[in-house]
Amino acid sequence: MFHFPFFLGGLACYFLPTIVGAARHKTNLVGIFLVNFLLGWSIVGWVVALVWALSTERIDPVRGPQTWAPQPQQQQRTLYCPHCGAGGPPGGRFCAHCGAALP
Ligand SMILES: [Zn+2]
Repeated sequence: MFHFPFFLGGLACYFLPTIVGAARHKTNLVGIFLVNFLLGWSIVGWVVALVWALSTERIDPVRGPQTWAPQPQQQQRTLYCPHCGAGGPPGGRFCAHCGAALP
């Protein structure tokens, strides 16, 4: 039984991600536990489970608009022909509508 405390300590270390996740009341604790349990033997799986357990889950609508905020549309300047008033993309030297020279 001499090794028992060490075994327990090792077990606690192994399941540290699950313990952290449980302490943080993670909703996806089952997932963390599964990754911890199934992939914990590999350092990568253990780290993934720990990062997952430590990650802050924010599904609150405060972050939603920030995440989904549309990129400001690049202002496409429209050049209007002084001759006929037709709008065209900038850069053209002549109006595509009437052929007049653009400023
Ligand atoms: Zn024109």
